[in-house]
Amino acid sequence: MIETLQKRRYAKWLTQPLVKELLILDNPRKWHYQNITNCCSTGFIEDDRIKMHYCKSRLCLVCARIKTASMLNKYYPDLKGRDMRMVTLTSRNVPLKDLKERIAFMKQQLMYVRRLNTRVVGVAMNGLYTVEVTYNPTSKTYHPHVHALLEASADKAHWFVNQWLLACKKHGVKASIRGQHIGQRLTNPRQLLEIFKYVTKFPHGKELKDVESLRQTAKMVDAIMVTIHNKRMVITFGNIRAHDESQHEVSTITLDTKYESPFSWANDNWYDQITGEELVPIKIPTPKVIKYKRKDKEYYDEVPGVPKDAWELKH
Ligand SMILES: [Zn+2]
Repeated sequence: MIETLQKRRYAKWLTQPLVKELLILDNPRKWHYQNITNCCSTGFIEDDRIKMHYCKSRLCLVCARIKTASMLNKYYPDLKGRDMRMVTLTSRNVPLKDLKERIAFMKQQLMYVRRLNTRVVGVAMNGLYTVEVTYNPTSKTYHPHVHALLEASADKAHWFVNQWLLACKKHGVKASIRGQHIGQRLTNPRQLLEIFKYVTKFPHGKELKDVESLRQTAKMVDAIMVTIHNKRMVITFGNIRAHDESQHEVSTITLDTKYESPFSWANDNWYDQITGEELVPIKIPTPKVIKYKRKDKEYYDEVPGVPKDAWELKH
């Protein structure tokens, strides 16, 4: 299972720079960021298996990739075969002080539009949504938006978006028609990967060009953490059943080679605590390779943090 460990090694390596900056902030979330640093950092050997502990943080790419695949596997059986469309709902950016209130407003209005639909057609709409927050470093504002998966015809999806715009207008929240998006009918599980990936999307690796952008990103990520901590990632409605979002605490992987002493993470790999031998003898891709792959058509297969086979996992 060296391939699993290689993917984990890469994800852990990519998470490090941002988490180091988050620790420097030295705020009450420090324990959380310390946990991310400790995620899978020791590999205990039990017979022919290696055992590691997960931190379960949304900011940790090791855990985020597991979460994305697990959410996809849990929801896909219920979603396939339905007439589903992905709808993105946005409103104008807000400063940090208004972020929490804006997210609450968005959730409230979504509920209102759904209830209105039930009143109009007599049947509840089925679907789910996730909330993503991005940051604009130029204007220093936050952009919360909703990625909803609706069981709806194209007409109904348009109606939904229009109601959303009307609700924003009614409450004095600026939202433009160009900021909303209605996707095609869901035909490919890859599109589903898109929606579950959003819940854990933060800049990592090459996206953080220099120390200054890394620092700014850390502050932004920390602010978003305060807003999303302990909140459900996926909110379902209608007859779509909500699934447990908890994650396994421990990972055990069978090894091909016999080891006796534990392995410890140091910078870019796990090393045998006695012999110093590397656990994963494959090189981490150079930044050039990462950049190239992210421009490639197979973007979602190669984006750091998302397992190559996430959408192929058995349903
Ligand atoms: Zn983790």
